[in-house]
Amino acid sequence: MDTFSILRNHNLRRTACREGILKVMMTSGKALSESEIRSHLMGNFDRTTFYRSFKTMEDSGILHKIVVDDRMVRYGLSEAVTGKSSHPHFYCTTCHSVFCLDQSLVAPQLPSGFSTDDLEMIVKGVCKKCNA
Ligand SMILES: [Zn+2]
Ligand SMILES: [Zn+2]
Repeated sequence: MDTFSILRNHNLRRTACREGILKVMMTSGKALSESEIRSHLMGNFDRTTFYRSFKTMEDSGILHKIVVDDRMVRYGLSEAVTGKSSHPHFYCTTCHSVFCLDQSLVAPQLPSGFSTDDLEMIVKGVCKKCNA
């Protein structure tokens, strides 16, 4: 899917900054932090424009937030864009990269009376590049 269709599907106007963020996300192959995304677009947009666009895209569900721990937050493209369903994440303890895994997340059987709001799983280990 191209950047314009993604924005249109989320009822967002096409702006250079939004499209820039999407392009960075689509080509990265892993989840990125806000500052990593910003550094890829360095010099193209001012801080306020970037921050507003980023927030809009998170709020509209184009990006999903992955909280590894309280100091490490990454963003990936959401299901509506990638076609992936609710998926687990992988965190490499060597290079600190975070990846969206191409698998469905299966909820554990809950005790009676419990209900699920959200499902998250982060697998920690060593990525292919670091294992090589
Ligand atoms: Zn790694
Ligand atoms: Zn993900």
